[in-house]
Order: sequence, then C-alpha cells, then structure tokens
Amino acid sequence: MLLSEIRLDSKDLMKMSLFRGVDPNPVLELLQGCRVLELEPDEVLLWPGQANETLYLVMEGRMQVFLDQAEGLHISSLGPGECAGEMSIIERSRTSAAVVAQERTRLLSVPQDLLWSLVDTTHAVAHNLLYILSGRLRRGNVVVAEGFEERRRFERFATEDKLTGLKNRRWFDESLTGFLASGATEETGFSMIMLDLDHFKRFNDRCGHPAGDRALQRVAQVIRNNLRPHDAAARYGGEEFAILMPRTRTEQAMEVAERLRLAVCRAELKDLDGRELPGVTISLGVAEHGPHDTAESLVRKADQALYRAKNLGRNRVAG
Ligand code: GH3
Ligand code: MG
Ligand code: MG
Repeated sequence: MLLSEIRLDSKDLMKMSLFRGVDPNPVLELLQGCRVLELEPDEVLLWPGQANETLYLVMEGRMQVFLDQAEGLHISSLGPGECAGEMSIIERSRTSAAVVAQERTRLLSVPQDLLWSLVDTTHAVAHNLLYILSGRLRRGNVVVAEGFEERRRFERFATEDKLTGLKNRRWFDESLTGFLASGATEETGFSMIMLDLDHFKRFNDRCGHPAGDRALQRVAQVIRNNLRPHDAAARYGGEEFAILMPRTRTEQAMEVAERLRLAVCRAELKDLDGRELPGVTISLGVAEHGPHDTAESLVRKADQALYRAKNLGRNRVAG
C-alpha cells in the first residue's frame, strides 16, 4: 500500500460518479491535498468490522467486494469512477464487506470530514451520493434474491427425484410424518396408495434399461396428470410410487387408484427415438390411516394391500 500526493484536474474529476455534473473548481480546491493510494493485486483495502473514516474513489484498476472473503461470497466489483467505504461513513458504523484489489489499483482517498464538506458545498455531490447508495441497495436486493433462488434450488434437489421429477423418498417420509403429527387426519380421513410396476424386470430385460427409465417417467407423468390438487406423489423406490391423499377415505382412494390403473394401461409408451414400446401395467395397494396407525404401520398396510393386488394377478387395485 503506497500513498502519494496528487494534483487532480477536472478531467480526473468528471470520470468519478460522485462528481458527475458538479462545478469542478470548488470541488478541486477542496480535494487538493488528498492522497492517492496504490494497491497491489489481492491487497485488502477494507475488511468486515473495520472502523473506517475514508471514502475511496477508484481512479484506475478494479476492486472486488465480498460479504465473506473466506467463503468467496462475492457481491460486486468496483471499477474506475466507482467508490468504496461510503456506507460505513454515512452510517457511522463499521464496514460490512471486504474490499480487495483484483489488479493493481489506484484510489483517491477522501477523509470523511472532507466528504461532508463536499456534500455541504454542492448539491450535485449529495445527489450523486444518494444515487450511488440506491445502486448499492438495488445490488443488495439482487444478492438476497439470488440467495433465495439458490436455496430454493437446493431444497428442490433435496426433495425431488431426478428421473421422474416427482418428490423423492425423503420428502415422502418427512411429509407423511408431518401430516400424521398435525392430527388433521382423524376427522377428514387420510389415505395412501402404494403402487408398483408389474413384471418390470422382464420389461427391462426385453426393452433395455433406458426404455425402462422412459416407462418410469411416463408412469410418473400419468400419476401427476391424474391426481387431485391436494394429493401428492413420490417415487418411493426403484419402480414403486407412493401417493399421499389427505381428506380421503378408503372408498375415494380406491376410486383414485382405479383411475390411475386405467390411465397407465391406456398410456402410450415411446422410446426416446419415437419407437413404440410395449405398454406397462401397475398394481396398487390402498390403505386408510386408522386411529392407532403410525407412519410405519400405514405404509405396511398399503404394502400388504399391494402384495395382495400382485397375488391376485397384477394390474389391479386392492384395499
Ligand atoms: P412384480 O410385478 O412382482 O413387481 O415384478 P417386477 O419384475 O416388477 O419386480 P422386481 O422387484 O423383480 O424387479 C423390479 C425391477 O425394477 C428390477 C429393476 O432393474 C427395475 N428398476 C428399478 N429401478 C429402476 C430404474 O430406475 N430404471 C430402470 N430402468 N429399471 C429400474
Ligand atoms: Mg414391480
Ligand atoms: Mg418393486
């Protein structure tokens, strides 16, 4: 970090966003005696929590702004004409971000008293400062929105089955436990369906694993298209799917299951290259949550019903 004296001229001034549209002469007079700071690449100018009483105006080079340097949480970069350090001066608080030179950078260093004199002297400086601050606010909002979006993406990955786009087993387990714990199931009923593709091993052997994947995707699509808005489907395991049906008694659940069975039977199946594939069928087991059921016992009941549907010849619904 090297400090040197500088004689500024009005051309230097006009390049800086803080001085856009100002009358240069009184400002130049106030700025004479300000020093120029030279930073080497990676040199730190400000770090979070530091007391800061200087405004820095970038004359040449580029600075990076990090919320957390160790984690690489990069917010923005500052090029010629932009400034750093103004927020901590205005708020009279410590700095909230790290500012680091990305390349060799020259900065005009303006002490805070001088900044306030500039604001008092020229209306345009005050206006520019507000403009700079609102830009920071806007950028801050973008960073927050990107953070939310990233979190949503992670949450989606954590609960979504990649092949079918349905919810995954983890989501299913957590949701079922959550539903039952809410106690809302007693009055209105709560049912589930466990369904499994029939003779799917044979299908894979005959048509190949990629075609099997297509069949799973197609069944998932049929399920999605045939559920009521308050039902939720998950891929429970390899070729098994589970459906949660709040506010549903056995009779209704059997109807939904039968509708699904028919829809899968009727669904056309094509390979990625458009080649027609043999159709698949599903067997379904239905169970309603009883007063003494736990999540495990409810799943067991649905599994046993599915087993009965298989034993009765497959491509059918059992309760
Ligand atoms: P059943 O009617 O009794 O259910 O017979 P099945 O052949 O469907 O049952 P089995 O449990 O013997 O075989 C399940 C098959 O599902 C075997 C496995 O390779 C296939 N499978 C599981 N997950 C996937 C997957 O992600 N993709 C593909 N293509 N096949 C899968
Ligand atoms: Mg099967
Ligand atoms: Mg199975």
